[in-house]
Amino acid sequence: MKASVIDKAGTRDERRELAGKCAIVTGSTSGIGLGIARGLAEVGMNVMLNGFGDTADIETTRRELSSAFGVAATYSAADMSKPDEIEAMAEAARAAFGSVDVLVNNAGIQHVEAIETFPPAKWDAIIAINLSSAFHATRAVVPEMKAREWGRIVNIASAHALVASPFKSAYVAAKHGVLGLTKTVALETAEHGITVNAICPGYVLTPLVRKQIPETAKARGITEEQVIRDVLLHAQPTRAFVTTEQIAALTVFLCTGAGASITGAALPIEGGWTAQ
Ligand code: NAD
Repeated sequence: MKASVIDKAGTRDERRELAGKCAIVTGSTSGIGLGIARGLAEVGMNVMLNGFGDTADIETTRRELSSAFGVAATYSAADMSKPDEIEAMAEAARAAFGSVDVLVNNAGIQHVEAIETFPPAKWDAIIAINLSSAFHATRAVVPEMKAREWGRIVNIASAHALVASPFKSAYVAAKHGVLGLTKTVALETAEHGITVNAICPGYVLTPLVRKQIPETAKARGITEEQVIRDVLLHAQPTRAFVTTEQIAALTVFLCTGAGASITGAALPIEGGWTAQ
């Protein structure tokens, strides 16, 4: 790999460094995952999309990424709550690309409700999809990354991996767990050219957040406008939503040689939320 990503004109050239590498991005049919898949394709990486959604829409996205950026793009319908499907997804990526160089564990769901009435089935689903899936996907790709002495694992955690909010017991527990997994695997792989980091975004206006606005309004007995102003953006001193492009850019940076010494880190990208 090139030692530097700065080209002769003094600008970063991540494409030259990362083109041809292969990535799986879980939960990339929507929101942050799709933004990350696009960001990785933009620098020339082949990407495996994953997640639920309308089959025709997913196929359109896959073709568009491939033709816009001249990369191979493929899709796995693996359900991240099912360990055997996660293993099959990694196997399918290896079959399609020859290797998995980058794994982005992004798939996630949310449920907002007080602990007394929080449905146990929702707890189980959130732990499975937001936490256990990262364990299963990581263990499926680490052996080949170790063998090649290069790999990048990026876990999309949350500001809720660092601090809590009421009514999100399962989500906050899962995201704190993701941080523990991140640190542990970072230590286990540190001498093998692999970095493992957790990105901790604040609020991004994706379908996941749009859905919790009415749920939060109900749980707190306030209007949806009040939820946006007094709950979501109140937590972020910038009073602005984080964008999927900003998270994608951080993910790309972590994949470069410039990011090689960052491992086991929790990287907040939350408009100052956890500085308070
Ligand atoms: P989103 O709802 O837009 O996207 C979630 C993706 O996960 C979709 O592609 C969906 O199909 C997929 N998915 C859900 N269940 C799945 C399953 N069982 N198997 C496979 N795929 C599944 O949500 P988002 O806001 O883009 O969230 C993505 C990640 O970012 C999540 O882990 C979330 O916790 C995290 N995050 C989001 C925010 C935010 O404000 N949006 C903030 C911090 C962290």
